[in-house]
Amino acid sequence: MFDYLIVGAGFAGSVLAERLANEANKRVLICDVRPHIGGNAYDFYDDAGVLIHKYGPHIFHTNSREVFEYLSRFTAWRQYQHRVKACVDGQLVPMPINLDTINQLYGLNLTAFQLDEFLASVAEPRDQIRTSEDVVVSKVGRELYEKFFRGYTRKQWGLDPSELDASVTARVPTRTNRDDRYFTDTYQAMPLHGYTRMFERMLNHPNIKIMLNTDYTEIQGVIPYGEMIYTGPIDAFFDYEYGKLPYRSLEFKFETHDVDQYQSAPVINYPNDYAYTRVTEFKYLTGQVHPKTSIVYEYPQAEGDPYYPVPRAENAEIYEQYKVLAEATPSVRFVGRLATYRYYNMDQVVAQALKVYRTIVAGGNEKLELPAKMSRAREMEPAKARAVNGNGHSKTNGSGLLERER
Ligand SMILES: Cc1cc2nc3c(=O)[nH]c(=O)nc-3n(C[C@H](O)[C@H](O)[C@H](O)COP(=O)(O)OP(=O)(O)OC[C@H]3O[C@@H](n4cnc5c(N)ncnc54)[C@H](O)[C@@H]3O)c2cc1C
Repeated sequence: MFDYLIVGAGFAGSVLAERLANEANKRVLICDVRPHIGGNAYDFYDDAGVLIHKYGPHIFHTNSREVFEYLSRFTAWRQYQHRVKACVDGQLVPMPINLDTINQLYGLNLTAFQLDEFLASVAEPRDQIRTSEDVVVSKVGRELYEKFFRGYTRKQWGLDPSELDASVTARVPTRTNRDDRYFTDTYQAMPLHGYTRMFERMLNHPNIKIMLNTDYTEIQGVIPYGEMIYTGPIDAFFDYEYGKLPYRSLEFKFETHDVDQYQSAPVINYPNDYAYTRVTEFKYLTGQVHPKTSIVYEYPQAEGDPYYPVPRAENAEIYEQYKVLAEATPSVRFVGRLATYRYYNMDQVVAQALKVYRTIVAGGNEKLELPAKMSRAREMEPAKARAVNGNGHSKTNGSGLLERER
């Protein structure tokens, strides 16, 4: 008899399995339909011996000390600040747009102050910011929008930015300084021995049994358990009663090259040329020293594994209907990005899972847990957020940031 059946061995499922087994002494069965643990963060050594990410590049970054300290129990880290270049007008320029991007692109020598003036002169203020196009055009004007955003967004989503919620591009910053880092979070690091090794250590507990290649429907009614924690797609759980929730998918094309370094940045975005959106060279991320190098091209597509929930009002409405069903379903908690139909970064999912765990031990019964939206300012207010539980472990209300990956 298991106390919990956890469906999905990604971040959401693995964090909950670890907490329930390790701290609450519960017996946990965790199953995944895939042949590996780690969910979308799974990494492995390819035929050439290069560590690659099977589901596209995953870069860890967070402002949450709680999340970082929690994961640090299972991995050492490699300090890593991510950098991205965009191929625009035949040049490779820093992305997000910064002072060097504009100077390089237009052959100028502006100062930060002059760039402020330049952007103010090209920006097209809009009365209402409803769509992704409004967000960008009102900040940097039409020309930069078309060079950097429009084509990328159309490829990525199969929709024009004017058809997508403002949230898609709302958090892509424009900088007037020369900071070329992709993220500015307090904690930016990669698991020293990879994500999969970190997951192995998380799930290495006598109370946790793992079943891979197993859809939960194959074991329901066969293996007894108390409660279920479900981290798969919410529409599938309810047999698509209100229809399929749309996702954007990706096809990954991997290549290994017989050179030490293939390109001049960890990620190069191609907003305007080619069918792929970006190319990633993994050795930059992992720090691996190897005479060969492996890269991945990402081709967005409508069909395939569910990766990005499509942020449009009509999809949010369908999700709301499923949420009502979820709230009326006893003994199942819906956690993670697929079960809550939200694009979450890894740290946000960890924060969400830790919050669900706290709810469980406190005897709460909310069925759908959303991570608290958290700004940098709200993050870590120790006096308010921290409580110490009976085992002396500190607990905080920390959560992640809301920046969307691309
Ligand atoms: C291309 C891409 C790049 C990303 N890059 C970053 C990044 O750089 N930084 C970052 O912070 N985040 C990134 N993310 C987001 C990150 O992948 C997620 O935040 C994280 O994986 C979510 O974890 P999860 O446990 O909610 O979901 P998942 O990792 O998807 O895990 C859910 C698991 O449930 C399993 N499952 C589903 N249905 C069933 C079933 N019926 N029976 C059994 N098992 C089932 C699935 O096989 C899956 O393994 C990226 C996402 C994508 C798609």
